[in-house]
Amino acid sequence: MTAPLLEIDGLEAWYGPAQALFGLSLTVGRGEAVALIGRNGAGKSTTLKAVMGLVRHRARRLSLGGADISGLPPHRVARRGVGYVPEDRRIFIDLTAEENLALARRPGRDGIDRWPPERLFALFPNLAELRGRRGDAMSGGEQQMLAVARALVGNPDLLLLDEPSEGVAPIIVEEMGAALRQLKADGLSLLLSEQNAALCEELCDRAYHIDQGALRWSGPMADARGIEDGTAE
Ligand code: ATP
Repeated sequence: MTAPLLEIDGLEAWYGPAQALFGLSLTVGRGEAVALIGRNGAGKSTTLKAVMGLVRHRARRLSLGGADISGLPPHRVARRGVGYVPEDRRIFIDLTAEENLALARRPGRDGIDRWPPERLFALFPNLAELRGRRGDAMSGGEQQMLAVARALVGNPDLLLLDEPSEGVAPIIVEEMGAALRQLKADGLSLLLSEQNAALCEELCDRAYHIDQGALRWSGPMADARGIEDGTAE
């Protein structure tokens, strides 16, 4: 078995004096899609933020492709090949879609740009029509697509997505799901925090259930049904 792309062991994280994660361990393999599930406030977003270096943390191991990334600032984690789609999207609302993408464009670690505009717009056909539109004139779903596209033009090996379906119309959730499945088929690794069970089931191989900052359950996505509400075996 090849080593996982992302390896987290014993992750703890803090907001000021308040501890939010208590020794979390998980892995994401190459080409694998993994879901973080759990109630609001469980620690899913914090896990993604810790990987990105956006929250104070400590771990026995936090590595990408075997190299330690613990304590690196976010821009250096990004340069190691991690793309991040935050919950609040953080696109520049006074810039057009095209300008947002141009700002984030960066070749991959191998120097290759896998996401020229034609390929990106083939993945997100709606985005092609929105090229010249400012962020503040887009719907929540359109902004979310732009946020995913912006992460992709950084040519990541691993994509972290924080609730990609939140506040997004069902039709766009479907389009997003199809795009994410295609990315996975293409070999990209995905780690997502997600409450939408259908999206997780269609996309993810495995799930980790987080509760009060600790891991409660992990297993194949197919076995995760009922885990959150306690109705599973
Ligand atoms: P949600 O779906 O609501 O984002 P989550 O599982 O992603 O839920 P986190 O956002 O990771 O949960 O929150 C984990 C804990 O950390 C919660 O107790 C939350 O109140 C706390 N927390 C999150 N962000 C901050 C912050 N900026 N300052 C202080 N505490 C925070």
